[in-house]
Amino acid sequence: MLNKNRLRIAMQKSGRLSQESANLLIKCGIKINLQQQQLISFAENMPIDVVKVRDDDIPGLVMDQVVDLGIVGGNVLEEESLKRKMDIDHPLYNIIQKLDFGSCRLSLSIPINQEYLNISSFNNSRIATSYPFLLTRYLKKKNIEFSFFILNGSVEIAPGAGLSDAICDLVSTGATLEANGLKEVEVIYSSSACLVSRIGEISDIKKNLINKLITRIQGVIKARESKYIMLHAPYTKIQSVISLLHGAEHPTISKLAGETKKVAIHMVSSETLFWETMEKLKSLGASSILVLPIEKMME
Ligand code: ATP
Ligand code: ZN
Repeated sequence: MLNKNRLRIAMQKSGRLSQESANLLIKCGIKINLQQQQLISFAENMPIDVVKVRDDDIPGLVMDQVVDLGIVGGNVLEEESLKRKMDIDHPLYNIIQKLDFGSCRLSLSIPINQEYLNISSFNNSRIATSYPFLLTRYLKKKNIEFSFFILNGSVEIAPGAGLSDAICDLVSTGATLEANGLKEVEVIYSSSACLVSRIGEISDIKKNLINKLITRIQGVIKARESKYIMLHAPYTKIQSVISLLHGAEHPTISKLAGETKKVAIHMVSSETLFWETMEKLKSLGASSILVLPIEKMME
């Protein structure tokens, strides 16, 4: 019998989002063994169960209120919403947090040697895709007459095999396209993983747990985006040094033992420090420059 008081979170079982989803939950302090093959894993220290499924099933599990939360690509979520003809005024889920992984774009690609002028080049074309609804929404808006067929895998080989004129598929680096003699010509949807919650009645206990999780997730993302920077700088160059470092509101400036011309500056920077900036800092007279990762953050 399922325990209704436990928060249920769906994530991808195995694929591009699974490792990052598991890391995120574990970084949030959830003690859980996600390596097991079972459909459901139970957290030891919080009333949380994680349901591991194919990514395509996650939007439905959230919309049908089988789970409370889901971690899924925006592309899969939007495709399922279009399939279910979701009314934007009455959504079947809420996106509660955009996540910092799984970024990709759904793009139209054609053979490299084919000339491309503009979107009207797709008139009367046949397109292979796993995303018929996103594709149709995009091309309908542009008044393009086209046909499509569905391939749920190996979409990129369709043009080379003479099955289609073009493909509409996910791209991140573009290496797969290139390897198959294709070029990306139109981005139709930009995606990243997101945390979604179901709508409908939810107990106060679960609401509090969700809020706690969101705060922790934001802390994890913020920490990943930030760096702790320590350096020694000439007393006269403090302002120039600080202006090179972004996102630090109140740096700590402290004395160095046995050194009067330099001070120590410590700060949290919202950006990573590139070699170029470190070289500029050095030319200002800074030394002992350290860039450290941050484990957790709460503001
Ligand atoms: P499943 O077996 O769970 O159905 P899948 O093969 O459909 O898995 P994956 O290839 O693991 O899915 O991709 C999962 C999600 O990862 C995509 O829906 C998308 O949001 C994201 N993603 C990020 N980069 C890429 C990429 N280059 N190609 C495909 N998906 C990507
Ligand atoms: Zn899938």
